[in-house]
Amino acid sequence: MTPVTTFAGRSVALFGLGGSGLATAHSLKAGGASIVACDDNPDSMARAAAQGIDTADLREAEWSTFAALILAPGVPLTHPVPHWTVERAKAAGIEIIGDIELFCRERAKTAPDAPFVAITGTNGKSTTTALIAHVLAQAGRDVQMGGNIGTAILSLEPPGAERVHVIELSSFQIDLTPSLTPSVGVLLNITPDHLDRHGAMESYAGIKERLVQGSDFAVVGIDDGFSRAIAERREGPSLRIHVGPGAAPVGGLLVRDTAILDDAGTEVADISGIGSLRGAHNGQNAAVAVAVVRALGIPVEAIQAGLRSFPGLPHRMEEVGRRGRVLFVNDSKATNADSTEKALTAFRDIHWILGGKPKEGGIFPLVPLFDRIAHAYLIGASSDAFAATLQGAVPFTRCGTLEVATRAAAEGAAASGAPEPVVLLSPACASYDQFRSFEDRGNQFRELVRALP
Ligand code: ADP
Repeated sequence: MTPVTTFAGRSVALFGLGGSGLATAHSLKAGGASIVACDDNPDSMARAAAQGIDTADLREAEWSTFAALILAPGVPLTHPVPHWTVERAKAAGIEIIGDIELFCRERAKTAPDAPFVAITGTNGKSTTTALIAHVLAQAGRDVQMGGNIGTAILSLEPPGAERVHVIELSSFQIDLTPSLTPSVGVLLNITPDHLDRHGAMESYAGIKERLVQGSDFAVVGIDDGFSRAIAERREGPSLRIHVGPGAAPVGGLLVRDTAILDDAGTEVADISGIGSLRGAHNGQNAAVAVAVVRALGIPVEAIQAGLRSFPGLPHRMEEVGRRGRVLFVNDSKATNADSTEKALTAFRDIHWILGGKPKEGGIFPLVPLFDRIAHAYLIGASSDAFAATLQGAVPFTRCGTLEVATRAAAEGAAASGAPEPVVLLSPACASYDQFRSFEDRGNQFRELVRALP
């Protein structure tokens, strides 16, 4: 745990007692602050109280006694409307910050030179964060990984000169972190997302830009207009990453197929044959990771070894088994057509399991990739709609459940003449019609594959 000492002897209000909120309360308390914690969910209040955290209804509180409001990132700060705690804090004239800000202040106070890598972007944050942490750990570094992935930042060990914090940040977290000054800041990409919470695209991009501007050294993907403009405005030291044809940016890296090249055309790393890093999108993630670990002094051979041994993250094009020639891939995290497109592009001879609670637009954007699909196996609420799109273009079977679909796809793939057919669960849908979450869906698929004869 990282005790937060910057509010010692003062009182703070804390709203949002999910995982990170609870960790924040413990860290503040350990650092000598007094906390009044609150949540809309009575169960969360009870759990916090049982752990010795002072809880109260903040509607009844005297806000002038608080030094700050510590807000959980899931609570609206601006859009669609500010949460009532935000209004109360503003009326009382106190600052509104999150757990990442508390970490940044603690680092500034106790270990200002501690290496701190902060990663953001619309897509690929978790993969890139995990990859950077993996390469550093394999190279023998003391690594703490968390934030928007896995462990809450304040549950990690405290910052130190010999310890690297590798932290994934959502735009909501950045929005609550006014003094974000990582030693290395990463922006992968910016595409429309979460606009219900940020209003316009410009304000969403503006939040992400703050991370780039605050960094001692910035690594920026330049393959979308917003990110490119941010890279161009950046004044301090930075490195740009480009995926695709053309040349490497000056001083930056280029991803051409599976090769990661510097601006002299020298190969720095290669991701061919690495199952956990298939697809052009993972080329971007890998090149960003290479740039970051190089900046942290990891030698080229150790970088290549670290990439090669990266196990990948569950539910993102995760290889979950082989039966003879047939490869089984769990891409349950693909809850929309955009994400499924990445998986369909990475394979051929696909026995595709899809469906669930459909998103707007369905699978129409995937029509250009239909020639990669040998057979589709439909599950869930979207079956009629998806059958209509597939009709006449791709042979399909209505399977209803994941269990039936997995068996049918395994049989279909085994019977095909293709050299390496793939059974791919990439649903292009939310999971809630049949599962608790995309993790639940992916875990069930993994078990079904294990249970196959
Ligand atoms: P995040 O943490 O930002 O949600 P993940 O690493 O969990 O990102 O990847 C989620 C999905 O986003 C993947 O399954 C893939 O479809 C897509 N994706 C991953 N990396 C990228 C990238 N660099 N660019 C575009 N899409 C990506």
